[in-house]
Amino acid sequence: MKHLLKTRLRDLYARTLFHTGLHAVVDRLMPRRLTILAGHCVAGPGSNGVLPPDMKISSGRLEEILTWLGRRYDLHTASSGWRALRAGEGRRGLVALTMDDGYRDNATAMLPLLRRLGAPATVFLETRPLDERRVNWTHKYFWIAGKLEPEPFLDRYRRTCAKKQRQGLLKVLEAMVRPGFKFDYHFKRYLKYDADPEDRDRTIDALFAELGGDERALCDELYLDWDEARELRDGGCELGCHTRGHVILSRAADDEALRAETAGAAEDMRAALGARAGAFAYPFGRRWDFDDASVEAVRAAGFDLAVTTHAGTNGPGDDPFRLKRLMIDDGAQLHLLVAEACGGFDLLRLFGVDLSE
Ligand SMILES: [Zn+2]
Repeated sequence: MKHLLKTRLRDLYARTLFHTGLHAVVDRLMPRRLTILAGHCVAGPGSNGVLPPDMKISSGRLEEILTWLGRRYDLHTASSGWRALRAGEGRRGLVALTMDDGYRDNATAMLPLLRRLGAPATVFLETRPLDERRVNWTHKYFWIAGKLEPEPFLDRYRRTCAKKQRQGLLKVLEAMVRPGFKFDYHFKRYLKYDADPEDRDRTIDALFAELGGDERALCDELYLDWDEARELRDGGCELGCHTRGHVILSRAADDEALRAETAGAAEDMRAALGARAGAFAYPFGRRWDFDDASVEAVRAAGFDLAVTTHAGTNGPGDDPFRLKRLMIDDGAQLHLLVAEACGGFDLLRLFGVDLSE
């Protein structure tokens, strides 16, 4: 109830700022800020049909957002935006578009749009799909979920995983009988945080193979290759780093594994692109997905900044290794993005009211 009320108030406040033009007044009142948008894919049935809707934005919606924001704010990459913010250059409102993981549609669908609009973006690459044509477990999970109904999927998973892992699955099974059960949420959450990562990967691999999955073909369908990544770079995009294999850094097995996913991924990028990557994105990006050791490893790997998936704007005094971002998919609403980008929610916070997500 409280959450619903907050959502309604947020929407009402954002609509008021947006439709009355008050956003322009707030923009002039509030300190300079960088708003970083975060998406994954530009929707296209041939390139990312297997991925869930919250990872996609239509090119029409993206165009609407960039066009509107581009008229009133300076559009940047994550790195150039951060530099401009620190240097006090440009307009008061700076906006950077970022896309995570390195999907093929970023080159085939997003790049032509960016060229037409004269807008830049940062694409955060996982290097293993580009180097080895292998995908992380979540993509095989989505692929299997497209072939099997929740019950048979869970049942086959239980029968295939290690015996001692089965206990943890009880939580998912219990949740399954509750009304409004969201299989994708509960099962994926179990696989992400509760399952033993090695056993999970082995089990998902086995089910994927049993159902006739072809990892190379799935990777080719979903991910960029290095040539396409260079095309993005030559088209004005920044290429940032998103680890090798999309592991949760706070749960890296040991220091060596953490170093491989940070400094190792940075070396992969330098080897393929001949230049250092300045920006890093933490996989999954919530504050429990990375910790102080992860931040230190990213800093030690030579990056200048790192982005999270916590919502909000960034000021010049903020920690460059914990920058906030606003997630966008096809349900992204322009008035809410504008209310954030103009500093509207920061303004409310000055009065002790927190309506942000
Ligand atoms: Zn990611």
